[in-house]
Amino acid sequence: MDALRFGCDAMLGTLARWLRLAGYDVLFDPALADDELAAVCRREERWLLSRDRALVSGAGPRALLVAAAGLAGEVAELRRRLPLRVDPARFFTRCSRCNGVLAEVPRAAVADLVPPYVAAHAERFSRCHVCGRVYWPGTHHARIAQSLAELFLHDPTAP
Ligand SMILES: [Zn+2]
Repeated sequence: MDALRFGCDAMLGTLARWLRLAGYDVLFDPALADDELAAVCRREERWLLSRDRALVSGAGPRALLVAAAGLAGEVAELRRRLPLRVDPARFFTRCSRCNGVLAEVPRAAVADLVPPYVAAHAERFSRCHVCGRVYWPGTHHARIAQSLAELFLHDPTAP
C-alpha cells in the first residue's frame, strides 16, 4: 500500500467513501470552506482532490482536478495520475462514515450493539474507535469487496 492521503471537496463524497473503504486516510468534511480544506491538505500533506479548477490551481503541488464523471471514472482518473498501490489487506480498515481506524473486537464486546442474528453468526467484528460504528462481514460486505477489486486492482489496460 502506498502512503498517500487525501482530502476530497464536497462534490466528491462518493469517491471519499470508497477511498476509505479501500483503506485510505481521507478527509471529507463538506462544512469546510474551500480555503480551509486546501490549508488542511497542505498542512497534513494530503492530496487535494477537487472538481473546482480554481481551487486546484491555487492549492499547491499536491492537488488534482478530478474531471471524470461517476465513481469508476473518478477512480480510473486517480489511478492514471497518482501512484496508487492498493493492498486488499487494507480493505475495510477505516470507517467509511468518519475516516476513523477500525480495530477488531471480540464478539462479546459488540453483542449488544448489533442485531441478534449478526451477534450469533458473523465471523468477526471491527469497530471504529472514533464514532463507534460496528462492522462485520456480510453479503453486502462481499459485494463491496468485489467492487473495490474492480475499481482499484483490475488492470485498466486489460481487455
Ligand atoms: Zn467511524
